[in-house]
Amino acid sequence: MDSQVSQRLFELAVEQAYDSVLITTAELDLPGPQIVYANDAFCRTTGYSRDEVIGKTPRILQGPLTDRAVLSRLRHNLEHGTRFEDAAVNYRKDGSTYVVHWSISPMRNNEGVITHFVSVQRDITHETQLEHFNQRLLEHLADGVIGIDHKGQCTFVNPSALSILGYSNDTELIGRCSHSLIHHSHADGEAYPRDDCPIHQMLKTGEAPEPWRDYFWTKAGNSIPVEVSATPMRYSSDPVFGGVFIFRDISEQLELERQLHKAASHDQLTGAYNRRFGDHVLKKEHAKVKRKESGVALILADIDHFKAINDELGHLVGDQVLKEFVEVLQSRLREMDSLIRWGGEEFLIVLPDTDLKGAQKLAEDLCLATEHHPFDAEIDRLTASFGVSILRSAESIEAAIKHTDDALYDAKQSGRNCVISQF
Ligand code: GH3
Ligand code: MG
Ligand code: MG
Repeated sequence: MDSQVSQRLFELAVEQAYDSVLITTAELDLPGPQIVYANDAFCRTTGYSRDEVIGKTPRILQGPLTDRAVLSRLRHNLEHGTRFEDAAVNYRKDGSTYVVHWSISPMRNNEGVITHFVSVQRDITHETQLEHFNQRLLEHLADGVIGIDHKGQCTFVNPSALSILGYSNDTELIGRCSHSLIHHSHADGEAYPRDDCPIHQMLKTGEAPEPWRDYFWTKAGNSIPVEVSATPMRYSSDPVFGGVFIFRDISEQLELERQLHKAASHDQLTGAYNRRFGDHVLKKEHAKVKRKESGVALILADIDHFKAINDELGHLVGDQVLKEFVEVLQSRLREMDSLIRWGGEEFLIVLPDTDLKGAQKLAEDLCLATEHHPFDAEIDRLTASFGVSILRSAESIEAAIKHTDDALYDAKQSGRNCVISQF
């Protein structure tokens, strides 16, 4: 290419560049280098016209907030004729500041003597602000955030992650394997192999897992329930170079869920299952009977003359008696049995793997235990009546309840404080 043409092309390119371009003399002693060229972008960024800066020193761009350490490194590099690159605060003509990222290269003549410095500058105020914003966001986020490299080693830990996991400084985690530190075992203490870990899987496959519930281990060796979401980090289709996982301590949420579940399935006064959950238990057991997996027996227990207790001693004593009656029954049942508050002072007991004879025997025990139980409530003695029957595959649940209820009615008719079975 013709050298005049190519020079014109370069001039045009520099003139139109988005980055500011400044050329100065190489004079380092006072009064310092002088500006000999400034492109349009420089004038736009600083507010100076070209005429105003030509012949001036670039120090007009510096001010109280300009980092002195950066300037002394700059001077050191220029003195040694090496390229310099860094960021600092610069000042516009109107005194406002902007953050500039700039590189300065020495330009040598044919004899190798430095004659000029060429400085290319970019206003990175926006990026810096964004970075600051992101940093503050991470610092103030209540969720724990941990960044890891492709090997699973921690590269970043925010303050919430430190406090959730009981660490005081991120240096305790940075550079160490996050899995071995906080994810090594399941809640029951059994080892959690890295290959089973969704975070590790993500690093291998590059696929983000669905958010999941897990347990992380604190520095003190306690496991805490957490909800975790993880994202792999990669540039377009390059291999994954790391990932970020975000987590929250869900101890309180789990406790709330446990309480809600209990409230939804249990009777508040006695702690027995409520009728709604009882229906669910019956359906489940009936299905098992139909699959011939289990014989299921039912007992309906009803306190004798309970109304008289309420009438003579008051409702609160009645409540206390109900609670104690449930304790008497519950203490004689197996883990697999279900005690359901079926009505006011009427309780249904569902007994899997039990035949009529076994249920009759249990009901007699319960009847005796009730009669002889020393109640805390101020009553001399309490008795109850019991009806017993079987949940059959060929019959509906309602029919089985009816048989049990009929048996209970017969027990009441037979003078109470007794057990009647109906096959
Ligand atoms: P029976 O021997 O024939 O079973 O007579 P009973 O008095 O036990 O039966 P009845 O059905 O006439 O009375 C049941 C009473 O239970 C009536 C009701 O006010 C009372 N009751 C129901 N739920 C509660 C409760 O949660 N607390 C208290 N204190 N009483 C209740
Ligand atoms: Mg009763
Ligand atoms: Mg009743």
